[in-house]
Amino acid sequence: MTTTRDGKRLVTPDTPMKENELIVITGAGGFIAGNLVLYFKKKGFVNIRAVDKKPLYDWYLRVPGVENLCLDVSIESNCRRVCEEAREVYNLAADMGGMGFIERFRVECLRSVLINTNMIDAAYHAGARRYFFSSSACAYNTLLQNDPNVRALRESDAYPAMAERGYGWEKLFSEMVCEEYWHERGMKTFIARFHNVYGPHGTWDGGREKAPAAISRKMIEAIDKNDFQITIWGDGKQTRSFMYVDDCVHGIDKIMHSDDLIATPINLGSSELVSIDTLVSKVEKIADKKLKRHYDLDAPRGVAGRNSDNTFIRKVLAWEPNTPLDDGLAITYKWIKDQYDRRKAGERVGVG
Ligand code: NAD
Repeated sequence: MTTTRDGKRLVTPDTPMKENELIVITGAGGFIAGNLVLYFKKKGFVNIRAVDKKPLYDWYLRVPGVENLCLDVSIESNCRRVCEEAREVYNLAADMGGMGFIERFRVECLRSVLINTNMIDAAYHAGARRYFFSSSACAYNTLLQNDPNVRALRESDAYPAMAERGYGWEKLFSEMVCEEYWHERGMKTFIARFHNVYGPHGTWDGGREKAPAAISRKMIEAIDKNDFQITIWGDGKQTRSFMYVDDCVHGIDKIMHSDDLIATPINLGSSELVSIDTLVSKVEKIADKKLKRHYDLDAPRGVAGRNSDNTFIRKVLAWEPNTPLDDGLAITYKWIKDQYDRRKAGERVGVG
């Protein structure tokens, strides 16, 4: 008997995860998954398979002692290979970027549906015990985000659905796929809706970068060129919250191992709301320089305001992302400056 009388699945506890059992992480040449590989390695896991379609030299992080595979996981046969023997699968691969990318390349974003569809099925057939899907705050109803002084988004705000075109709808659909693999097939799936993540080892140039990295890079360029001007996308009044990547990987681990959260989307984000203008001021403070601000009102700017309501995560996990933006931004700025200098010196560094 695997269901109760009202049709709900019974949760059978897993045996504790051993350090030599296989963890599979996709998107590992990218920002968050790269940091996640490092996190599990530092935690003592010795059997980690990192996967990305990018060539190895373009990965932000190549963690020693990890099996690295360059494979496209939108292809079913590759997913079968990737999931062989996996005990846990973390699917973070997606074609994505900041506002500039997701507003311009909706087809690419929608096509990421192939990744989750094939990965979850391969994980299921491989007998993986747990499957993690990285969803996004872009899955929320955009009509609730028309004002910079937004009410923070609760998990129930995804429906009735009016997600961000392209990227957001793909996330919402893939969430449903994860929910049904639990309800119909009994695989434990976990879904976190990330709110803007930033930090070292992420995209900082090339068009896919997000606001904290873009503004930091623009400041570094301004100092380098002795031309203290910045073009800000939109009127600078849009508000967002930004989560430091260490909080993100820690949160992924906590969510993946909470049976209370099986097939239950949950916010994973900071609730420290700032305007883009404030973000620029923070970068000015770190660099100890002032920039003349120009506003590009025709540039992609996304919703007017978005914040994470953390009531649910505090209740279930007695925890929430809590790195102050000032602290995380100072570390990120320093990392981008180092990458910028190394690139200028002719070294090959990953940008995005
Ligand atoms: P990223 O672009 O740095 O990393 C994604 C990686 O996936 C890239 O390295 C890319 O090469 C890889 N990839 C794409 N298609 C692939 C394929 N078919 N096969 C194999 N690899 C493929 O992005 P990120 O910021 O690290 O995001 C990771 C996940 O978190 C994504 O699912 C993203 O949608 C989600 N997310 C991120 C944020 C954020 O603020 N960074 C916010 C919400 C959700």
